[in-house]
Order: sequence, then structure tokens, then C-alpha cells
Amino acid sequence: MPYVVGLTGGIGSGKSTMGDLFLALGVPVIDADIIARQVVEKGSPLLAELSNHFGTDVLTEQGELNRAKLREIIFSHPDEKAWLNQLLHPAIRNEMLAQVERCLQPYVILMVPLLIENNLTHLCNRILVVDVLPETQIERAIKRDNHKAEIIRNIIASQVSREKRLSYADDIIDNNKPLEQSLEKIKMQINELHQIYLKKAEEKQCQN
Ligand code: ATP
Repeated sequence: MPYVVGLTGGIGSGKSTMGDLFLALGVPVIDADIIARQVVEKGSPLLAELSNHFGTDVLTEQGELNRAKLREIIFSHPDEKAWLNQLLHPAIRNEMLAQVERCLQPYVILMVPLLIENNLTHLCNRILVVDVLPETQIERAIKRDNHKAEIIRNIIASQVSREKRLSYADDIIDNNKPLEQSLEKIKMQINELHQIYLKKAEEKQCQN
């Protein structure tokens, strides 16, 4: 089992941006968002369970998950949200672990937006937080997703506070500055973290 570095941060904080920089160093990056889509892909047993439970309304004409419809249902029904989470969360966690175990590299990056909210920190040997101010999150997420500020604010409010997230961090990447100014410094920090994680992974290997 490789050493696991959990990479987390709030909406629009820059997790994918940092994940890509680790990927460029040859480090495997396991993305919880991709896995969350894979477990309910067309033809999957979980998608069949969803349509049995909620009705075929949650499927598109092509037989894929109609995410907007599902979001609409669970938004107004907290019980249904709990039912959905108890179905999806174990499947996502198991698939993340399976992908981690398949990696042959000394360490992997496990990129999980809701690592703290969903109590998944125990899957990680170390936690790396990408930190930005809420104003910056809102500004970047609006630019990327074309959402209204209010929607982004609501998502931020549904996630752990910046302070709580930082309290879990072993390492922090400050992503407040525009990349034009900070990219070289961030690449240097990621190179340093890469060396630290390789060393930690080797130490873990020796203990086993
Ligand atoms: P989410 O969890 O919402 O998917 P994320 O944490 O993965 O987001 P990214 O997608 O990496 O965040 O970044 C959000 C947006 O901000 C992207 O459009 C990205 O290109 C941009 N961005 C990231 N870091 C910076 C930066 N330092 N300066 C300017 N733009 C940035």
C-alpha cells in the first residue's frame, strides 16, 4: 500500500491545479470527483439502485444519471439525501482504496474535496490543504462555472470553515496570489513536498 497524501480544499481553491503539478512529477492522482461519477456510470449496479429507488425520472433518455433531477429531489428531501449518501459513500471509499492499492509508486495523491466533511481523513497518512480566502474562492469559481455568487457562497457555507480545514493540515499551499505571479514559487514548494513525501513513503515502507 503506498503512502497516501490527502489533497483537499474548498470549492475553487485550486486542488485540480495542484493535482496537475503533482501529476507532472509522475505522482498518481486519484480524484474522488471522477470516482463519484464512475460508480454511477451508465449500466452500473448503483445507477440501477438509484432508478429503482427514485424512479426512472433520475435517468436521461440515454440511460445516464440525470444529476440535475437528482439534485432537485435531494435538495428538498433530507432523508433522501441521507439514503443516497449511505449508498454512494461506501462505494466511493472502496473504489478510492482499490485505486490506491493498485498504485505501484511510493506515494499517491488522494484528491478529495470533502475529505474532512465526510470523515475520510483516516484514509490518509498526511493532509495537504490548498488555502485561499473565501473572496478568492468566489471570484475564481464564478469565473470558471459561470455561477452566481450566492450559489458559491451557499456551497462554501456547506463546507467546513477555512479555519477548521487548516487545523487538519500537515502542509499548506497558499494559492491566494494569481498564478502569473505565484506559479514558480508553487512549483518549488510542490517539488519540496514531493521530496518530503518520497522520504515519508520510504520510512513507512521500512516500518512494514
Ligand atoms: P473544485 O473543487 O471547485 O472543482 P478546485 O479546488 O479543483 O475546484 P481548480 O479547478 O484547480 O480548483 O481552480 C479553480 C479555478 O481557479 C480554475 O479555473 C483555475 O484555473 C483557477 N485558479 C486556480 N488557482 C489559481 C490562481 N492561483 N490564480 C488564478 N486562477 C487560479
